[in-house]
Amino acid sequence: MYAFTYDPAASVEEAAEKLRKSPDANVLAGGMSLIPTMKLRLSSPSDLVDLNGLTELSGITLTDDTLTIGAMTRHAEVAASADVQGAIPALAELAGGIGDVQVRNRGTIGGSICFNDPAADYPAGLVGLGATVHTSERDIPADEFFVSLFETALNSGEIVTSVSFPVPDKAGWSKFANLASRFAIVAVMVSSQGGAVRVAVTGAKDCVFRVSEMEQALSDDFSPSAIEGINVAADNLNDDHYADAEYRAHLITVMAKRAVAACS
Ligand SMILES: Cc1cc2nc3c(=O)[nH]c(=O)nc-3n(C[C@H](O)[C@H](O)[C@H](O)COP(=O)(O)OP(=O)(O)OC[C@H]3O[C@@H](n4cnc5c(N)ncnc54)[C@H](O)[C@@H]3O)c2cc1C
Repeated sequence: MYAFTYDPAASVEEAAEKLRKSPDANVLAGGMSLIPTMKLRLSSPSDLVDLNGLTELSGITLTDDTLTIGAMTRHAEVAASADVQGAIPALAELAGGIGDVQVRNRGTIGGSICFNDPAADYPAGLVGLGATVHTSERDIPADEFFVSLFETALNSGEIVTSVSFPVPDKAGWSKFANLASRFAIVAVMVSSQGGAVRVAVTGAKDCVFRVSEMEQALSDDFSPSAIEGINVAADNLNDDHYADAEYRAHLITVMAKRAVAACS
């Protein structure tokens, strides 16, 4: 690895200031994605501003209608949280299915959504549940946060502090995983709240997306059979040695039906 400056942050404000002063600096969360990209020379930050000492960025709180998860909360903590399991079991299931035990013990929700890997699980979790991303500067609806392949709505120097989820009436998660990495080949989060239905898909395109035709059908009849005949076109879907575009298109309907059946 090449030389860089390691710089533990004492506060979110200080971290943001360091990023503003050094345009090539980057924040370090779990390091599960950032360190491999550095080792592969796909990124070469001048400074790593470490968020791991900022306890205020970690933890889970539940009020009557909102679940809030700090940006530095590890996947394993989300999966094991009684609050998450009680309020949004589908989200606990999502977190518990990420990677392996080592990845879940280090990787964070903030790092996952900021990296915005096209096969990551949390983007579908946030969009499918209508979450809001809170940053050092503003609040961003999940629908606007994920922009494109490895790209988010964050400004340079902007740090994610937490994510809040409205507690849905019901939600379900279903993932067809790559058996080696556990990344999603296709995964779907479905939720219903006050009659408003969301269906969000990850793994199938360059970025998470919603399927409005399925949302409409499920608004009329919230059952797997309501979306039986709804197929997403294979055009523009990911096509690689794990699964071709036609297969991913088929999986979207299958995973969406399973997510509806799993709703609780
Ligand atoms: C073997 C393996 C298997 C995996 N399997 C899965 C899987 O099945 N599903 C899945 O979803 N993911 C999977 N992952 C990815 C994993 O979830 C990572 O934890 C995640 O992508 C990055 O989180 P991190 O905390 O490690 O972030 P880091 O690697 O530290 O950071 C990632 C990026 O986000 C930025 N960043 C981090 N935190 C913040 C913040 N608070 N504000 C602003 N920017 C920030 C960093 O600067 C960096 O650019 C896997 C990873 C590995 C290595």
